[in-house]
Amino acid sequence: MAIPFLSLSDATSELRAELDEALARVLSSGWYIGGPEVEAFESEFATWVGARHCIGVANGLDALTLSLLAHGVQPGDEVLVPSNTFIATWLGASHARATPRPVEPDFATHVVTAESFARALTPATRALLPVHLYGVPADVPALRQLADERGLVLVEDAAQAHGATLGGTRIGGFGTTATWSFYPGKNLGALGDAGAITTDDDEVASWLRRLRNYGSSEKYVHELLGFNSRLDPVQAAVLRVKLRHLDAWNARRQALAQHYLQGLRGVGDLQLPELPPGATSSWHLFVVRTARRDALRAHLDAAGIGTLVHYPIPPHRQQAYAGAHPEPLADTERAAQEVLSLPIGPHLTADHAGQVIDAVRRFFA
Ligand SMILES: *Cc1c(COP(=O)(O)O)cnc(C)c1O
Repeated sequence: MAIPFLSLSDATSELRAELDEALARVLSSGWYIGGPEVEAFESEFATWVGARHCIGVANGLDALTLSLLAHGVQPGDEVLVPSNTFIATWLGASHARATPRPVEPDFATHVVTAESFARALTPATRALLPVHLYGVPADVPALRQLADERGLVLVEDAAQAHGATLGGTRIGGFGTTATWSFYPGKNLGALGDAGAITTDDDEVASWLRRLRNYGSSEKYVHELLGFNSRLDPVQAAVLRVKLRHLDAWNARRQALAQHYLQGLRGVGDLQLPELPPGATSSWHLFVVRTARRDALRAHLDAAGIGTLVHYPIPPHRQQAYAGAHPEPLADTERAAQEVLSLPIGPHLTADHAGQVIDAVRRFFA
């Protein structure tokens, strides 16, 4: 591929010396679970996000499951989730032994609204689980108002939203509970699996610290049925290095997105990403829509340009959820046929973006 969808080794090469130093520090420390490196990352990430607490866990899925449990979600409760998302959002609810209930996102922005969640409430609804999909912030203040009015739990899936803002406030900085993934391909990615939860709620933070560690706050004393889901010091050390570069990397994503938005305006039937008022995206993904998606994708592939579809099969169409959601979800199924993610990342240049723009324009010419 002349322009791959994403090349993870570029980030490693750029930071190789800093990463070597961080890994050497962990090797000589003698701490291989927990310890100072994990605590330092938790404190640095909480500060960066603007939250009081950060609890490191093993991955983004566990961050979702444990957050719902820490907020008291019970077996049989219903959790409202977007119908278009990575399946982990739904699995977080299912693994908390609750039932994910899909709500279609807004057609233009791809994120759920407080109004659509309000319309979908049933007497069994216990929690709202919006996703800042593709890096586009959902309306956290409106969702929080809905949750407060109805006595519901609010947990945000922020796995794609590191650095996205709403009214100048970073996602994670609204005092709510947000879950993070540091899967290698995310805006902040580890060299393996890693995740975290940020929250301002002292009690939720205390539950989470025990839940991730065998239900224990004192060695060999177990207060609740916990999990083994810990962020390890190797990944914490890597994440501390990358966190120092995240603002610069997000700025490069933003610049590429501006190139795309200018260069692709008014081309064919192409629909460009739209943001809610007052929002900035983390530009985790740059997702366009067209009725000729598969042909465009094949054309770009032939030109050596890598693309992906987020997501080709929505969760309610997966065998894992077979029969669970018979109601039609027309917008979501249409999105699965029409969305296409163009290459975007901190190591793509303006020249690369120009080549992608030219290739897309040639397709529609
Ligand atoms: C990546 C992702 C997750 C899951 O993260 P893992 O670390 O892979 O478990 C959850 N939700 C969304 C929206 C994601 O993109």
